[in-house]
Order: sequence, then structure tokens, then C-alpha cells
Amino acid sequence: MQDWQQRAAELYNGDFRPMFIGGKWCEARSGEVIEARNPASGEILATVPKGGSADIDAAVSAARAAFEGPWSKFTPFERQALLLRIADLFEKNWETLCLSDTLDMGMPIQRTLANSRRVLGMLRFYAGQAVAIHGQTLQNSFPGEIYSSTVREPIGVVGAIIPWNAPIAGSVWKIAPALATGCTVVLKPSEEASLTVLMIARLMQEAGLPDGVLNIVTGLGAEAGAALAEHPGVNKIVFTGSTATGQSIARAATGNLKRVSLELGGKSPVIVCRDADIEKAVPVAAMSVFANSGQICIAGSRLFVAREIHDEFVRRVADFAANLKIGHGIEGDTDIGPIISARQSERIEMFLQAGPSEGAEVITGGEKLTGEGFDGGHFIRPTVFGGVKDDMRIAREEIFGPVISALPFDSIDEVVARANDTPYGLAAGVFTTHLGTAHKMAHRLKAGSVWVNMYHAIDPVVPFGGLKMSGYGKEGGLEHMDAYLDTKAVWINTD
Ligand code: NAD
Repeated sequence: MQDWQQRAAELYNGDFRPMFIGGKWCEARSGEVIEARNPASGEILATVPKGGSADIDAAVSAARAAFEGPWSKFTPFERQALLLRIADLFEKNWETLCLSDTLDMGMPIQRTLANSRRVLGMLRFYAGQAVAIHGQTLQNSFPGEIYSSTVREPIGVVGAIIPWNAPIAGSVWKIAPALATGCTVVLKPSEEASLTVLMIARLMQEAGLPDGVLNIVTGLGAEAGAALAEHPGVNKIVFTGSTATGQSIARAATGNLKRVSLELGGKSPVIVCRDADIEKAVPVAAMSVFANSGQICIAGSRLFVAREIHDEFVRRVADFAANLKIGHGIEGDTDIGPIISARQSERIEMFLQAGPSEGAEVITGGEKLTGEGFDGGHFIRPTVFGGVKDDMRIAREEIFGPVISALPFDSIDEVVARANDTPYGLAAGVFTTHLGTAHKMAHRLKAGSVWVNMYHAIDPVVPFGGLKMSGYGKEGGLEHMDAYLDTKAVWINTD
């Protein structure tokens, strides 16, 4: 713990951290800055440029020049080698990257450190994919010697916009497939957590990334983000964030009909059947929400429990919640860190009020923590609501905080219908020891990912993404490469 604190003090000391355009580290054209604060203490870690539309123009021009210039000469094997060098540099600097994230967005250090399998795996998976891109030779119906085939080509300049809740994995999942396919990137991190993304760009530059292939413009969503989404020089937007912002990005993209992939919000169900292994299910169901203080898109925030075991199961989840250690992410034994900002904390507190006012019962938590150790930050006690009805706000709206709404159910058909009765479709969890129930639920739940007797598993090789208002397009798996590639048909008449 002491060691982390000392290293934290050396990492950020309130200084200015420039953004990255065309291989140069620069200020915003306006000269304005945004403060990057530690959400656990409110202390200013650094300032970053408040980029605007002029900076986005410069970044898109740099990305276009690189796409048509030096980057287009890189062979797939050279792009692969570059991604592998980046992965090695990430591995070498992993603790510093994680420490930066913990300071900047609050995720407990043990949790950021544990993400290495996923993040290094992404870089190495896409390195492999770089040399596997291929078209097809097609038998056509024309008489004579007319040959047809397809070629896969990089889509061009990709605009990437990410939220604050997982800056390392979130940015790598956008950048790595772009590098593998030969695209170039303008990435706008969240104004709430830009510092680690800037650190990532430094490592990529050190690994030998040519100027302009990756550009980072820090700034506000309504300014830099909106300018990127509507920019005519951008061929594709890959976005992760809230459903409301995703809708405005999809609208902004119509100007030049740029392609769009959207990873959006959720209100995911976790269903505990009466034959579930309760011992194993309790911590997984609890942490499906409480990990990262509930600031997880796939949070299993609607906990459906078979009526026969409902009261006991919910009591055990509440006991588990009450024993979680809340504190600064930098303290090695912290389970639950702070909420990212005052704005987000106030939104969660609004739901803590809305639950009881609509008739729900607070089983544990239900309040903001104040006093010694919590000054300057925003800490919410992990909360479990009982007596919840399907039409209450806490059962319908994404809270993005450490709040579980427990709901009893009586039959499989009933719970599947209730679980699917939401505008979202990001993820679902099922706990059962019955093979038939597992299969039935996995097929009938309308969600992009269904986990049985587990939760939270995300892997570079497995497609991840939402249905319905949780978005469209997949990240991970072979399908992910399609999001960054166009298919061209080539016809040759040899007569
Ligand atoms: P947000 O939508 O407020 O912001 C996300 C990003 O969009 C930020 O970089 C922000 O600056 C930018 N932005 C905001 N307004 C914009 C605009 N008008 N035009 C362009 N860009 C704009 O989301 P958030 O509060 O940062 O993150 C929480 C949300 O993200 C939750 O809804 C969560 O479910 C979702 N999320 C989804 C996934 C997923 O994979 N499906 C993963 C993580 C988070």
C-alpha cells in the first residue's frame, strides 16, 4: 500500500499533460484546459487540453495523411509486429498504467491489475488477425472467362469515442483492430478520465507507431465528441457510452453516412433458479453489480430470484455487500472505490431516494458515505433493494451505481418474459444446475451475452455487444474485424 501511494505521488503532480495529434504533443488551439481530478479525494492530478472542433479537424487531417501515406505502405506482418511490440510495452508498464487508471477514475488497483489477461490478450489477438485478412474468389454466373473476387480494405479514418469506466480496455478495444486492419484513429477519451489514454498513446509512439496513425483529442463530449461524430473526413465512428449519446452520434453520422458501431447502456437481469448453487451464486451476483462501484455497462442490476429461495438469497447478497471494503482504490484491500464525479453520484442518490418513495425497501446500503477517509470523494454504500416491482424506476432505468433491485419469480416462462421486458439487451446471467434450464434460458433471453453460472466474462476472441437499445456491432471475435473493413468486388474479363 505504501509503495502504491509513493508511486502515485510521483506519477501526477498537477502538471499539464498535452494531447497527441499527428505525432506531436500539443495544447488545444483555444489554449483552454480541463482539470483531471482524483474521484477518491477531489485532488487535481493534472490538466489536459480542452480540445474543440479545430483540434478535431487537425487530428482528422493527420489521420487521413497517415492513412493515405506511410501507414498504407505497412505490410500486414509489419502491423502485426507493431501490435506485438505494443503488447510487450504494455506488459512492461502494466503497473503504471493501472495506477494511472486507479488515480484517474477510481477503480481499485487490484481490479485494474487483474485486467492484464484481457488487455494484453486483445493486443496479441488483433496482432494475429492482422495477417489473416483475406477476400474470396467467387464462381459467378457469367459465361466466358470473367473472374470475380473480393478484397478486404481498411475502412479509413476511424473516430473512437469512449466512456470513463474502463479507459485501458475501452481504448485498446478500439485502437487494436484499427491497427490490425490498417485504419487510422482519432480517439476522444472521456473528459472524466483521459490521463491513462494519453499514457497509452506514449507507449504506442515508443513502439514505433507512425505519426498520425493514432491521434488523441481530449475534450468535452458536446464539443470535441460532437465535432468528431459529424466530421465529413471520418469514415466510421466506434462509440461506447450511454444510449442517449449513442442516439445523438448516430444522428450526427448521417451527414456523410459514415458507418457507426454502438456499445451502449443496459439493465441486465441476473436470474437465480431454485436449483442454483447458492454458495457460488451469491458473490458472483453481488459483484456483477458492485465491482467498479456499479459503473459497469453489463451490471446485473435486476436480480430475479426464485420465490422459494428469494429471501435467503437476497439476505446473503446483502450480507456480502455490507462486508465489502469501501475506500480509495489505491489501498490494496479496497473492494469498492469512489463514483467518478459529483454529477454521477447525485444521479445515483436520486435513485436511492426514488426506490423507497415508490415502495421499495432498503435491505442494505442506501446512502452516501461521508466523514474521515471519504472527504472530497463520492462513495456510495453498496445497496440492495427488496420489495421491488417491475415498473419502478430502479427496476427499469440504468443507474450505473452500486445498486441491486431484487425481484422474486415463480416460473421460468414468467421470468424470461420479465427479464426481456426492457428496452435494453446487453447481457444476462443465469444460475442453475439444470442443463435444460440453462439451454432454454440462454436461447430465450434477448441479450448480446448470456452467462450461465458465471458473469462478467469478456474475452478478445468472443464477440461482445448489445441488442435493442444497447447498440449494434460487435467488439471481440472475428466479427470485430468486419467493423473496420470494407469489402470490394473485383471483376476481370480476360477475353
Ligand atoms: P456518455 O455517453 O456520457 O459519454 C461517453 C463518451 O461520449 C464520452 O467520451 C463523452 O465525452 C462523449 N460524448 C458525450 N456527449 C457527446 C456528444 N453529443 N457527441 C459525441 N460524444 C459525446 O457515457 P458515460 O457517462 O461516459 O459512460 C456511461 C455509459 O456508458 C453507461 O450508459 C454505460 O452503460 C455505457 N457503457 C457501455 C459499454 C458497452 O460496452 N456497452 C461499456 C461501458 C460503458
